[in-house]
Amino acid sequence: MKSGCPAWLIRLGLFLYDHLGKRETLPGSRRIDLRHDPEGAIIRNEFKTGFEYSDCWVDDARLVVLNAIDARERGATILTRMAAVSARRDNGLWQVDLKGAEGSRRVEARVLVNAAGPWVQDVLGRVSGVNSSRRIRLVKGSHIVVPKFWNGPQAYLFQNHDKRVIFVNPYQDNLCLIGTTDIPYEGRPEDVAIDNGEIDYLLAVVNRYCKRELGRSDIVQAFSGVRPLYDDNSANPSAVTRDYVLDIDGDAGKPPLLSVFGGKITTYRKLAEHALQKLKPYFPQMTGDWTEREHLPGGDLGGAQSFQAFVEDLGRRYPWLAASLAVHYARLYGSMAHRLLNGARSIGDLGRHFGALLYEREISYLHEAEWAQTAEDILERRTKHGLHLTAAQGEAVKAYLNG
Ligand SMILES: Cc1cc2nc3c(=O)[nH]c(=O)nc-3n(C[C@H](O)[C@H](O)[C@H](O)COP(=O)(O)OP(=O)(O)OC[C@H]3O[C@@H](n4cnc5c(N)ncnc54)[C@H](O)[C@@H]3O)c2cc1C
Repeated sequence: MKSGCPAWLIRLGLFLYDHLGKRETLPGSRRIDLRHDPEGAIIRNEFKTGFEYSDCWVDDARLVVLNAIDARERGATILTRMAAVSARRDNGLWQVDLKGAEGSRRVEARVLVNAAGPWVQDVLGRVSGVNSSRRIRLVKGSHIVVPKFWNGPQAYLFQNHDKRVIFVNPYQDNLCLIGTTDIPYEGRPEDVAIDNGEIDYLLAVVNRYCKRELGRSDIVQAFSGVRPLYDDNSANPSAVTRDYVLDIDGDAGKPPLLSVFGGKITTYRKLAEHALQKLKPYFPQMTGDWTEREHLPGGDLGGAQSFQAFVEDLGRRYPWLAASLAVHYARLYGSMAHRLLNGARSIGDLGRHFGALLYEREISYLHEAEWAQTAEDILERRTKHGLHLTAAQGEAVKAYLNG
């Protein structure tokens, strides 16, 4: 696609992408004629050439909760909505005070891992009183969600005048996610919010490339996050390293504190392996890495050969289940969908219908199996039902939970 980067360089990059990694299931990259290939139908006529490559996607919130369920199934205690307020070394152990809405408790630990993301320095300094020369830089990234405006499963990547790349991804079937920005951020991570300049920036990049003119009235939702990037003193926020740094405090027989600076969702498993390697000297009996070939809970798909085969199996076992609902349960819960549907023989057994694909049975499941407590947990974090319900339907969910 016409951009700051010449076509031959993009082609070379994709050649390396195709050949350096272990590509087992994804198709190779190819050149696209934007004027004739269907993928080019939404692109303005002045752009003639694009390139296609294939990649995977993950729902970040589902990844987090599935890892927590996995840990619980292997013996961990998961305490949501509990903050570590103080951690002190005492007699060869960490004494950690936790505080939540439902009370306080103290836990003892032989090691403390500080994976507090944007709050990593807060946990180091205020909570555990440890000095560290490492610093993070908070870089805000914002997204907007608009109705999907093309046919097909493909995403688009557009290069902006500032050389940053903006993605336009299919999202929740009928929507599209556009992001992101890179803005230095100094406030409290929990207060981060998109600003008007970011909205204009994202709309302008898409409108530069696409025939359909997007405006503010198309925006269904907008949200922001802060990247906790390891501070490598780069002048440009887009150039700050996305690599992680693991810092360990704990020599001379002290129980260790391992702090994680930076990181990506994409590398989370590698990061976890490296974290354990760092801790191995303190736990010599530790065995080697084992997660590479393990499924996350539900990911075995009950032995089905593909996602599609699993959905078809759900349809056979629960013939009254609408296809869209079967896909929804399969996508979020994999083979754990059987726990959610346990004993159900008709759609009526799923209880009250709140709208779109949300039934009472799923709310109960999320409450019992996934620590969901509030309407936000259910509608925004564990699922994205909130995007498909009307305001009144969302209020009905709140009233149901408070009832
Ligand atoms: C806009 C944006 C776009 C991104 N895009 C991508 C991408 O495309 N691909 C990719 O791989 N990565 C991406 N990332 C990065 C990815 O989201 C982060 O690397 C990842 O979320 C970091 O996870 P984490 O568990 O380290 O931190 P977090 O997810 O921030 O979790 C930290 C947790 O610590 C908790 N906490 C804080 N203080 C305390 C305390 N005192 N006691 C107890 N708990 C505490 C917080 O409540 C929070 O739950 C993106 C990030 C942003 C912001």
